This record gives sequence, structure tokens and C-alpha cells, in this order.
Amino acid sequence: MTRVIKSKNLVNTRLAANYGGWMYCENCNENIGYLCYSTYDRLELKYKCNCGSDGSILLDFEDSRIGKNCNKELVIIKNRFCCPKDNEPLITILDKKVASYEMKITCQSCESVYKKVK
Ligand SMILES: [Zn+2]
Ligand SMILES: [Zn+2]
Repeated sequence: MTRVIKSKNLVNTRLAANYGGWMYCENCNENIGYLCYSTYDRLELKYKCNCGSDGSILLDFEDSRIGKNCNKELVIIKNRFCCPKDNEPLITILDKKVASYEMKITCQSCESVYKKVK
């Protein structure tokens, strides 16, 4: 299922595919994580790479829903942040590659919006 992108704003960041796959810092070319293609509805990520570069990603789709804020923590399964309600794998942030980050991600299947700050 191909989704129609509404917003796509990448700053100092490269994505391996149109709206998913490995994420790279454009300054040092290190991969900083992996975004699952089909399970998120909206992603907002700001980070500081270990090289000092500030990067960000904003992605959503024509059919993205607003979502409901959820205070639950994302669960980590095999290095990947997953939705605690349905275990959908959403995103991997390689902790050792980034000094800090702030993320807001919506699970497509249950419409929960999760926040994560490091
Ligand atoms: Zn970097
Ligand atoms: Zn979910």
C-alpha cells in the first residue's frame, strides 16, 4: 500500500526510502536509526547527532489522523520502539549515535501519539 505524503520536511537528514528505512545524518553520514514504513501515521523527530549537527524529520500523510496523546511509554523490542498497545514496531533510534532527541510518533493502527525525549 503506497501512502500519499502530505508533509515531508527533512533537515540535515537523509532517508533511505521515500518515507521510511534507515535515517542518516547528512553531515557525517552516520545512520542514526530506522523508521518502519507502514506502521506510523505521523513522525516528528528532532535530534542532535554526535557530530554536533542538528537534524529533524517531519512526515505525515494525506490520510493521517490527529491521534490521541498517550502517556504510556513506548516498549523496546529488539532495539525498536514499539506501540505498547498493539506491539506495532515504529522506529529505532540508535542511542549511541545521537547526543539527544525529541520525538513524537503516532501509531497508525491505534492512533496513539507517543512522546519520547532523551
Ligand atoms: Zn552527524
Ligand atoms: Zn498502536
